[in-house]
Amino acid sequence: GEDLIKVKDLKVHFPTGGGTRRAPEVVHAVDGVSMAIAPGETLALVGESGCGKSTIARALIRLLQPTAGTIIFAGQDITRVAERALRPIRAEMQMVFQDPASSLSPRMRVETILSEPMRLAKWNRDDIHRRVRELLEFVGLNETAVARYPHEFSGGQKQRIAIARALALSPKLIICDEPVSALDVSVQAQVINLLKDIQKQFGVSYLFVSHDLGVVRNVAHRVAVMYLGKKVEEAPRANLYERPMHPYTQALLSAVPRPRVHNRVKRVVLKGDLPSPVSPPAGCRFHTRCPLAADVCRQTEPPLREIESRHSVACHFAGQSIAG
Ligand code: SF4
Ligand code: MG
Repeated sequence: GEDLIKVKDLKVHFPTGGGTRRAPEVVHAVDGVSMAIAPGETLALVGESGCGKSTIARALIRLLQPTAGTIIFAGQDITRVAERALRPIRAEMQMVFQDPASSLSPRMRVETILSEPMRLAKWNRDDIHRRVRELLEFVGLNETAVARYPHEFSGGQKQRIAIARALALSPKLIICDEPVSALDVSVQAQVINLLKDIQKQFGVSYLFVSHDLGVVRNVAHRVAVMYLGKKVEEAPRANLYERPMHPYTQALLSAVPRPRVHNRVKRVVLKGDLPSPVSPPAGCRFHTRCPLAADVCRQTEPPLREIESRHSVACHFAGQSIAG
């Protein structure tokens, strides 16, 4: 079927303020990323902090203006749509952030927080009243929550409130930026299950941004791995976890704790730090840290190629193991 959102060759560059007037310094936060999400599907976007995944999330919802590329949402090109025309689009595309404590206003009661999207959309009072109670029920909170303030809730409950607010106008896409990273491990699974239940019930799509392949395993249909502003691998979940083909994906996966019997992959610790996105390394951007790096990697950038059906990799030695 039709993709709900289709992103083509997206670039987001920021001036650092440094450099010279003729050659200003630019951060290549996102450097030519394409992706698509079908209705009812979850695409996870994974990588270390600084890889550009949160920048993509913000560019899709147009909190940031893309430098180049196109974003087609529900058949409409929204790349350069003016701020005013964005309102109806934003109703269909919502965001849930990492830290619910800072995304929920501390001075507002839950009733007000949850009513806001409907008030802005000019719903009548009775409908808003009914919808707020319905939303609380969807996310597993008691109706008495309406009279309370965010600080009276646990982290997991606060994230449920943020999810309820995102659901208010029945969006088609919810962009979740590290939605469980601030939560205790025991609570993470509950919030993930809630997101999955919501998807089953309402057919929403998710872009699920995370640094943690362990978290993503339980929620994604497909996984895209990013490194320094580029997508280096993308595959259906099972393929990615069973046969990771990019050395970076293999290294990330080797760090995910697993039950001992399954833990056949020896942990590979990457050397060095993430290079600066102001002047990314020539050739393959991963070559400064890759255990398999050869001369060709330093000279020629590997294109993203489809190696198997729906499994794309950007590596000259795709499929070779870093475990030796
Ligand atoms: Fe490593 Fe070379 Fe593949 Fe880059 S192209 S990931 S440096 S083997
Ligand atoms: Mg981030």
